[in-house]
Amino acid sequence: MSQQEDIASRFSGGLRVAIIGAGPAGFYAAAAWFKQKDINVHVDMFERLPSPFGLVRYGVAPDHARIKSVTRVYDKIASNEKFRYFGNVQYGTDLTLEDLSSHYDQIVFSVGTQGDRMLNVPGEELEGSVSAREFVAWYNGHPDYRDWKVDLSHKAVVVVGVGNVALDVARILAKTPDELRPTDIACHALDQLRESKVEDIYIIARRGPAQVKFTLHEIKEFGDFEAATTSVRTEDLELDPGSASELERNKAAQRNFEVLEKFSKVQHAANGKRVHFLFKTSPVEISGEGRVEGMRVVANRLEEQEGGYVQSIATDTFNDIPCGLVLRSVGYRGTPLAGLPFDEDRGVVANVNGRVVDKPCGTPIPGLYVAGWIKRGPSGVIGTNKPDAQETVKLMLEDAVRAAPCSNRGPEAVVELLKNRNVDFVDFARWERINQHELREGQEQGRSRIKLATSEEMLKI
Ligand code: NAP
Repeated sequence: MSQQEDIASRFSGGLRVAIIGAGPAGFYAAAAWFKQKDINVHVDMFERLPSPFGLVRYGVAPDHARIKSVTRVYDKIASNEKFRYFGNVQYGTDLTLEDLSSHYDQIVFSVGTQGDRMLNVPGEELEGSVSAREFVAWYNGHPDYRDWKVDLSHKAVVVVGVGNVALDVARILAKTPDELRPTDIACHALDQLRESKVEDIYIIARRGPAQVKFTLHEIKEFGDFEAATTSVRTEDLELDPGSASELERNKAAQRNFEVLEKFSKVQHAANGKRVHFLFKTSPVEISGEGRVEGMRVVANRLEEQEGGYVQSIATDTFNDIPCGLVLRSVGYRGTPLAGLPFDEDRGVVANVNGRVVDKPCGTPIPGLYVAGWIKRGPSGVIGTNKPDAQETVKLMLEDAVRAAPCSNRGPEAVVELLKNRNVDFVDFARWERINQHELREGQEQGRSRIKLATSEEMLKI
């Protein structure tokens, strides 16, 4: 019997797959299933917010519209007749793991990462010390952050980390309201940024310019601000032997370095905002009486370790940067999901290549899978989730031939269950009405979109 025949005979009415989380990894998992033309598969996607697209809607910066256009691909996937979308359904309460296991043969979790890596320095908990993840969610209109407070009344901000998220948050602070206005930045954020008193944005990196994590397009944008200039200290460009050989090996790092070299020749304009890259600098303490007033930093030297990793080592030179806001941008971290084993060391659901495994033995738990950041950790760009999800689906396909079919096979059973629980779920047609509403409102105001920033507003449409 072929694999297709085996699956067809095992799962009456076709294989039933649930995807939890409507971000890029979830959509790519659905697409990978629909590519299996010979297999009759029905995909139901559940998302806790009414709106789909996860990090594309709530993570990608508002001024990066081109990256957001990938949602057209997801729209196409959603138009497959074997796909159903259930927005505004919370995993763990509206639908439990038990419910899902009885209605689906296989379940993929693609919920992303909702936590932060910490700096582990004193003062990190002070008011005014926030994670870049929260700041991003706030300016992108994430419903959980509609009433989140950030104080932009201070002159200086420190951003810790040199990944693309650090550049996103620094760029949003450096741009003028006129630069941001045409984008889909949340109205509440645009209003507050209009009143921003921020003038100096310090981006601090514990290692050197050869070890940055950001990408070329993103760093180049720091030379194109309407009313902000960007500087790099010339001494930061002096390379230790490890960094020199790292640059020699890595073309992308060389190109980034060339841009940073240009910034080292920049004289800040007399007026306008100033972005300062400070390399080989680590936070030691965030200071302040009740709220952030400054950051104590230490100068680092760099030393190549066995295997080539260039490590930062603190010296005894300290400095104080007065500031009223600290944005920690040192990476995201997954948070545990009800009923699934969690790998604390990696900050992801315990898994091997996408198969959820029990923690001590690493034995796969039948029917449970992960894709995206909750599987591999917060790395890569949106497109990285495609091969990641394909890898998971390949394993699901292998496992399907020995999987036990779920008991509740009727496609309407889950709809009835949600209705009985009074869950006001949003299907894709309803989401499309919300989408059209946002686009129309945006068009009327000369903006790309006016995002509805609460679930209630979306549900009213
Ligand atoms: P990231 O790329 O992993 O960068 C994290 C940064 O934090 C690194 O510079 C790292 O330095 C630093 N760091 C970590 N721990 C630190 C500590 N204790 N003290 C000081 N610095 C510390 O993470 P991310 O910026 O959050 O981005 C996540 C992923 O999303 C990345 O793959 C990114 O490319 C992607 N993304 C892409 C875009 C885009 O394409 N436009 C936009 C946003 C995000 P070390 O190198 O020294 O560890």
